[in-house]
Amino acid sequence: ATPRQKFVCGNWKMFKTTGEARELVRALAPLLQGAAGKVQVAVAPPFTALAAAAEALRGTPVELAAQNCHFEPQGAFTGEVSVPMLADLGVKHCIVGHSERRQLFGETDEGVRKKAAALLRAGLLPIVCVGETLQEREAGRTLEVVSRQVRGALEGLAAADVARLTLAYEPVWAIGTGKTATTAQAQEVHAAARQLLRQLFGAAAEEVRIQYGGSVKPDNAAELMAQPDVDGALVGGASLKAPDFSNIVKGAL
Ligand code: PEP
Repeated sequence: ATPRQKFVCGNWKMFKTTGEARELVRALAPLLQGAAGKVQVAVAPPFTALAAAAEALRGTPVELAAQNCHFEPQGAFTGEVSVPMLADLGVKHCIVGHSERRQLFGETDEGVRKKAAALLRAGLLPIVCVGETLQEREAGRTLEVVSRQVRGALEGLAAADVARLTLAYEPVWAIGTGKTATTAQAQEVHAAARQLLRQLFGAAAEEVRIQYGGSVKPDNAAELMAQPDVDGALVGGASLKAPDFSNIVKGAL
């Protein structure tokens, strides 16, 4: 199997005005010189800062991601943003099914599947988030929950499309809490997710990058990404500080 290129994406969540986004990109770009050629790197600003970030990223190897999208190309969907609108701004990746969207905004596996399909149809690359809550982990249901989410989000997609997308395993109890999964906990779930992808999509499973997310910091990133099925990281809080994010990216080298 070909080695999977590591992929690190920063999720800025609902932070950064246009001016602040430009400033962060400008601070980040020189720090990532070198590493960004070897590791795939993207940042996901809020919708309102995408255009400013796109402009500031021009000429750098860092790619642009969005945090959400609607699955219809246009229509009467007040407050939503479509995939063609994102593509128009130079967006290449889009996070779908983040646990904050599932928990706070009612996003379902079905919605995640429609969004992933819409992105792939338009040539954009979904980052599909899955992960169990603390209650589910303590009940011994982690693999069952993650399998249900992976099936729900991806079943019905063509293997060639699945090969292009990224899965992000983000245990809900580790997001924004400072609690990181141990390397063994992460590897166990990543390996199980890849095994399920093999069952569903065959050899395409070897190409899917599976990112870990949940309180990734400069001091735990390298160890996590050294696991055989951990192909990168989805980074929230630590992606808002240029030195921290660049040190996490270097952990993938
Ligand atoms: C995230 O929002 O995807 C995330 C992993 O957040 P944090 O790194 O802050 O835990």
